[in-house]
Amino acid sequence: MTNEKRKPAKALNATLGERTTVRRRTAAKKETAKGGDHVYDTLIIGAGFAGLGTAIKLREAGVHNVAILERAAEVGGTWRDNQYPGAACDIPSNLYSFSFAPNPNWSRSYSGSQEILGYVHSLVNDFGLEKLIQYQQNVTRVELDDTQGLWMIHTDSGRVWKGKTVIMASGPLANASFPKIRGIENFKGKKIHSAQWDHDYDFTGKRVAVVGTGASAIQIIPELVKKVDKLKVFQRTPAWVMPRPDFSTSEFSKKVFAKLPFTQKAIREALYWTHESMALAVIWSSPVTRIGERLGQAFLKSQVPDPWMRRQLKPDYKLGCKRILVSNDYYPALQKENCELITWPIANIVEKGIRTSEGIEHRVDCIVFATGFDVPKSGTPYPVLGVGGRELAKEWQRGAQAYKSINVSGYPNLYIMFGPNSGPGHNSALVYMEQQIAYAVKGIRTILDSNLKMLDVKPDVQAKHNANIQKRLAKTNWNSGCKSWYLTEDGFNATMFPGFATQYAAQMGKFDVKAYRQVKADVVA
Ligand code: NAP
Repeated sequence: MTNEKRKPAKALNATLGERTTVRRRTAAKKETAKGGDHVYDTLIIGAGFAGLGTAIKLREAGVHNVAILERAAEVGGTWRDNQYPGAACDIPSNLYSFSFAPNPNWSRSYSGSQEILGYVHSLVNDFGLEKLIQYQQNVTRVELDDTQGLWMIHTDSGRVWKGKTVIMASGPLANASFPKIRGIENFKGKKIHSAQWDHDYDFTGKRVAVVGTGASAIQIIPELVKKVDKLKVFQRTPAWVMPRPDFSTSEFSKKVFAKLPFTQKAIREALYWTHESMALAVIWSSPVTRIGERLGQAFLKSQVPDPWMRRQLKPDYKLGCKRILVSNDYYPALQKENCELITWPIANIVEKGIRTSEGIEHRVDCIVFATGFDVPKSGTPYPVLGVGGRELAKEWQRGAQAYKSINVSGYPNLYIMFGPNSGPGHNSALVYMEQQIAYAVKGIRTILDSNLKMLDVKPDVQAKHNANIQKRLAKTNWNSGCKSWYLTEDGFNATMFPGFATQYAAQMGKFDVKAYRQVKADVVA
């Protein structure tokens, strides 16, 4: 195994937040891939955090014959797509970044999406990943040739990519979802989804509706209200909102972090354990949950003096059941003179606006849909065909299942980043991601070192793992009765991991080759 040396943090620092220094691709990248018959050791789908992080760690483990297939013309995944006004991460940047690529220059505790995108670009530059990335390769099918033990990835460019192993790192929040509201197609004004922002649309002086009051909406609303003539916020379910301890980083701190990296590491550790302790409130119903609920109610009371409005904004489900939101400016924005909170259910969308169930037509120039994503809880983002042509989407129809969130029986040598039951509700997604990457690298190294045609998790092992996960999930707040994107229509939780991040790390830390059926590759004389 070779250990690639990482370039010093200098380059990383230089590129952060300066996306102009990074060539933005507007046209297809010149074809640099090897010939159509070339077999890669690993094909990675997606050049977001997970795909790039896996490429870095694979190369550290000596796997260099790798290509990253990216559907867009730029890296960044969710942070490339979610560039709506106010977009930021609700996990502190010192924890929402790779532990192996610290950035001493985060401008604030909760950085904005531009800055996070800058960090992603810096990973590409500093770890020399550019040459691995094949842009505008939108995957249309992933299919196993089980006679050869090779995965064939079809893209809409007409190419077929061959790989011994595959990392599906296309992300669970990759596909924007417009709600199924009657008449949505009849609206004659402008429709914008939060994850497909139209930066050319001028909101100044417009009458605008925002549908949704989730994590994206509460960041958009405070920004839009500053620009528009009238903002109408359509809330279906109020969220638990907590204060956001957001501070700018002083130049002194940045210098200390750069000179003495252990200081930043110590802060990351402190943030990690603070978030871990939140699991006690978020995941399970406990006295800490009740304390959290009181804190949320006190915050609401401190920010919203009007009792009627408070009643409208008070959640009627357990803290943690849906994602907890953090914002200091959401409640104040709702109380601005040009903002109106509408809690009547939406009946339908008409040519000129939104009609609510009590019969009022709210006329607007633009509707912003902050309505979330089409999360593959019971399907796959593209057809995935495994041993004997079996189709993953069919097997997942009633809810996705995997072994340790990453492998699925019948789909050997395929690793799914943020697969079933890997979601965190209380800690940084990147903490979980690093564990998934390390696990996948161990699996891939095993396949390559032992010259395996297939390393396929045994179905009984997978079933036992899932029975245990579902048993544990039954006791969590997520399964306590509210509706959320974590659950399928039938209430099956295919999304969240029922435990601390430390428990997830313990689960992923052990790669037990005995859990897998091994098929040796044919020896060619
Ligand atoms: P979301 O949390 O799924 O929220 C969607 C919102 O749209 C909800 O308020 C939902 O209401 C509403 N909605 C959906 N369909 C509707 C309909 N037909 N009529 C009326 N309202 C409707 O989506 P999101 O805000 O885009 O966030 C999705 C996920 O992205 C988050 O959970 C988080 O994981 C991630 N995210 C993270 C950050 C961050 O800072 N790290 C920021 C943004 C997003 P109901 O609640 O009633 O369903």
